[in-house]
Amino acid sequence: MILSIFTLLVSIVAIDGAVIGSRIQDQTGIVQTFLSYKSSIGLPLSRKGEEGLLVLSRKWNSSEPNEFACDPVTPVRSRVISGYPWVLLIRRGYCEFAEKLINAEKAGYELVIVYNDQDDRLIPMNGDADPEVKAVFVGLSTGETLKSNYLYSVNPSALVTLTPYYTLPWHMYIVPFLIVISICFLLMFIFLVIKKVRRYQRRRRARLPASKLKKLKILIYSEVDEYDMCAICLDDFEDGDKLRILPCNHGFHSHCIDPWLTKSRRVCPCCKQAVFPDEKVPVTPPSPEVPAPLLSSSNSYDSSSEPHNLAPNITDSPDEHTPLVRHV
Ligand SMILES: [Zn+2]
Ligand SMILES: [Zn+2]
Repeated sequence: MILSIFTLLVSIVAIDGAVIGSRIQDQTGIVQTFLSYKSSIGLPLSRKGEEGLLVLSRKWNSSEPNEFACDPVTPVRSRVISGYPWVLLIRRGYCEFAEKLINAEKAGYELVIVYNDQDDRLIPMNGDADPEVKAVFVGLSTGETLKSNYLYSVNPSALVTLTPYYTLPWHMYIVPFLIVISICFLLMFIFLVIKKVRRYQRRRRARLPASKLKKLKILIYSEVDEYDMCAICLDDFEDGDKLRILPCNHGFHSHCIDPWLTKSRRVCPCCKQAVFPDEKVPVTPPSPEVPAPLLSSSNSYDSSSEPHNLAPNITDSPDEHTPLVRHV
């Protein structure tokens, strides 16, 4: 009854040849966790786990401590019968792991926990021998906790369970994984910001500043003027319309051409001549904010005023940047 109420399950959770998790739990759940390491020598732990009562190593047929188990160990048969197998707790040091496990095997033990004598580092227990015991390795603090709280002599109701644990120890990988993912996202973000800034600067250089727009000629349309249709909106000019005349002598509605020049490109949408020929026009696609103007060959400009020489500083590819021209 007392055993059923106060039994503590000390689970040493193992993964083959790797760092393993371990836990101590009571009937209400996990109360403590440890790290441990499965031995490379000895028998494998069964999938359902190995239960036993924890005892310290003593010298052969003696009550003297033998914590390193480098000498013959008190045999199992000399201990009281408990109904559970014994789990021998051994301290690392003074002899090989194999020698400790062989001494445990010779004394009749099947389950062994070896704990580090210096620190909490978990190291693989290697060796040439292949003793028929099941063993795990734990750190110094785990060993001391087991020794002070869960020995059969201290807490007879504490049951140690060595359980294979075949899941990846995620806590060992999650931090490096998150760091790598964060670095990738950061680099991607920086790349996108640089790309955006460069694109913005390119567009900004391609646009005509408002101060220069004011230098372009404005004309109030009357029927005697040489222009008759806006090549952007394809509407006929009417008396009183405000026209912007570019240096190439192409004329447009001011409200049609101004956004094109100031938000997209500083070239004539008809002939692509630079509005200020002395300036180099950066190569850039038209801004999505300003649709490319529809140009019609029926635009009846005076042929004498049509420029025949394009500005030499136009470097755009016609495929990419020439506004859509509709031939009728
Ligand atoms: Zn127009
Ligand atoms: Zn033009």
